[in-house]
Amino acid sequence: MIPMVNLKAQYAEIKDEVEQGLAETIANCSFILGPNVQAFEQECADYLGVKHAIGVASGTDALHLALIAEGIGPGDEVITTAFTFIATAEAIRYVGAKPVFVDIDPKTFNISPEAIEQAITPNTKAVMPVHLFGQPADMARITAICSQHNLKLIEDCCQSFGASIGGRQTGAIGDAGGYSFFPSKNLGAYGDGGLVVTNSDAAAETIKMLRNHGSKVRYYHDIIGYNSRLDEMQAVILRAKLKRIDRYNGARRRAAHRYSELMADLPLTTPFEDGVGEHVYHQYTLLCDRRDEVMKALQENRIASAIYYPVPLHRQNVFKDECAGVSLPNTEKVAATCLSLPICSELDDRTIESIVKVIRAALV
Ligand SMILES: *Cc1c(COP(=O)(O)O)cnc(C)c1O
Repeated sequence: MIPMVNLKAQYAEIKDEVEQGLAETIANCSFILGPNVQAFEQECADYLGVKHAIGVASGTDALHLALIAEGIGPGDEVITTAFTFIATAEAIRYVGAKPVFVDIDPKTFNISPEAIEQAITPNTKAVMPVHLFGQPADMARITAICSQHNLKLIEDCCQSFGASIGGRQTGAIGDAGGYSFFPSKNLGAYGDGGLVVTNSDAAAETIKMLRNHGSKVRYYHDIIGYNSRLDEMQAVILRAKLKRIDRYNGARRRAAHRYSELMADLPLTTPFEDGVGEHVYHQYTLLCDRRDEVMKALQENRIASAIYYPVPLHRQNVFKDECAGVSLPNTEKVAATCLSLPICSELDDRTIESIVKVIRAALV
């Protein structure tokens, strides 16, 4: 079976370092907000070029705590994309705000700046773009819209660790950015984990309190917070992988380009790179009208493939009543034909060639 992500191959290369680090952590018994979390936060802040990086329990929590720290609450509208994982909108709902879904650019799959502008109302307080599949959203235009209309900008970077645009990392551009370390993400833990980044001292202080029961000093609580800390054991694993992240992302890019080269003549649309940001290919997602045939052929040859995302958020049961009149033609069209192929830093040319051979046989 060729899986979507080959985590076993990646583990083989970092095994000694990870196991030694885990053994030391267990021996030290410093399990909560210990030295590895602290070191990892500093290493992330340096790598991402931000003042503060705060480890939390998941990407969903990262977005949730970032929204609280930026003052988003009941009655506020947050403009975002419907072509994303549900957690983007869940975080908006957790703070009592309303997600306002707007359409995407059908080529990049990222939120459309024009659509953002058209959706602004007196209640709009923030914009939450997602750097979907690892390609940075159009941050030059989104930043301009946010500053013109005095809106907070919170980046969903859960799929874009290491992606940059205009020489800056995603997450370092807006008021805050949220990352996920879910195991299959570009920088993945061996369990759940997340990170909030910000250049604001005040927001960072609030997020540090929020993740740890609203306290700065143990057993003294200033606000109602959460139990949402990045686990010390996960920090050990993440530190080993962070050192290698540029190589991992480079290998993903090379694999993606190889796929696109080999499929250039096929009746499908390979992923579009806008040439502005550096795409880190969390997913390799193509468009194909004959998606079902391709998926069936892949499955018969024991090759994984997946649809990210089959149902856009405005059509999900949980949102379908409040979004009854909402029509997002580009989002709906892309959702009906998108197909993601296996991609990870360990995918070699021979495997890519064998996958393309199956797709070619199904289509021509
Ligand atoms: C993975 C993901 C999340 C949520 O991250 P978790 O760590 O699973 O909570 C949020 N947004 C997007 C776009 C994601 O891909």
